[in-house]
Amino acid sequence: DERLLDAEKMHDEDFELSLRPKYLNQYIGQTDVKENLRIFIEAAKLREEALDHVLLYGPPGLGKTTLANIIANELAVNIKHTSGPTIERSGDLAAILTSLEPGDVLFIDEIHRLPKSIEEILYPAMEDYCLDIVVGKDVEARSIRIDLPPFTLVGATTRAGDLSSPLRDRFGVISRLEYYNQDDLIKIVKRTSDIFNIPIDDKASVEMAKRSRGTPRIVNRLFKRVRDFAQVIGDGIINIDLCKEALNRLNVDEAGLDHTDHKYLLGIIEKYDGGPVGVEALAASISEEVQTLEDVYEPYLLQEGFIKRTRRGRIVTEKAFNHLNITTKETLFN
Ligand code: ADP
Repeated sequence: DERLLDAEKMHDEDFELSLRPKYLNQYIGQTDVKENLRIFIEAAKLREEALDHVLLYGPPGLGKTTLANIIANELAVNIKHTSGPTIERSGDLAAILTSLEPGDVLFIDEIHRLPKSIEEILYPAMEDYCLDIVVGKDVEARSIRIDLPPFTLVGATTRAGDLSSPLRDRFGVISRLEYYNQDDLIKIVKRTSDIFNIPIDDKASVEMAKRSRGTPRIVNRLFKRVRDFAQVIGDGIINIDLCKEALNRLNVDEAGLDHTDHKYLLGIIEKYDGGPVGVEALAASISEEVQTLEDVYEPYLLQEGFIKRTRRGRIVTEKAFNHLNITTKETLFN
């Protein structure tokens, strides 16, 4: 079952396309990243050169793909879109690289999942705009060099730490996207309301911003679901009462936590007295993989201070106990 609050892209999200800002001035928040990019893009245009390679990293749903498209639009070039896991053979990458026009953007999503052998083809392509390929077999085998047009690689990853350093070092611009603050999420939800032509009042937009885990993809997805309630049981307008009713029915609590988060927190509270508990033990006790805990469950809980990572393991904080309306550890277990 797909999780409403999962920041990863889901299957039916074509509506996202219509919501995607096309130029930097429509891209809300991420001021530092945006201002730097604006200057680098301007400079590349002045010099009539390809923009330096750009690595965008940060949690899913924060606007990496959107930004890659914006970079191409601002440069007025084409963008080719691929992803780490879909490039299986060196020929796949060679085919894309040789199809680029001068100045084009090649976007590689989940670039940390590129096979190592393919990553190595990228090094000379990024550095010298050329491809070294081997033709012929055995004693006949020889390497030939193909020149590529100057291009810009935009890589996106949720785990910058998983990128090899030779690859990381070849990016001239490395930008980290941050979770969005409430004001920016409010602007995003209002923009969405304009595009969908479904009015939302101020209180309702604050409420949605609060429950959307700092993530534009989630705030838009919540908007889309709440819109259904507005049209079916309401009068087509999203006001605060309707908004709260809908979000409660969707099991999104006031801090933007759902059953999955509750399961994680209660797992630590009920089985380990609130922690500390090692991540392996915790994963086993709630039947999840360690990687899933680290990638899916924990980032937001950590960011919001509901849990802490210590050397002795994970602990649930006072804030989480209060939020769940559970008396603190001492009173509970003494
Ligand atoms: P990522 O590639 O990081 O997973 P996306 O670029 O696909 O995220 O963004 C998800 C959706 O969120 C987009 O369709 C877009 O509508 C919206 N979005 C992301 N960033 C912004 C932003 N800064 N301003 C407005 N909308 C945004």
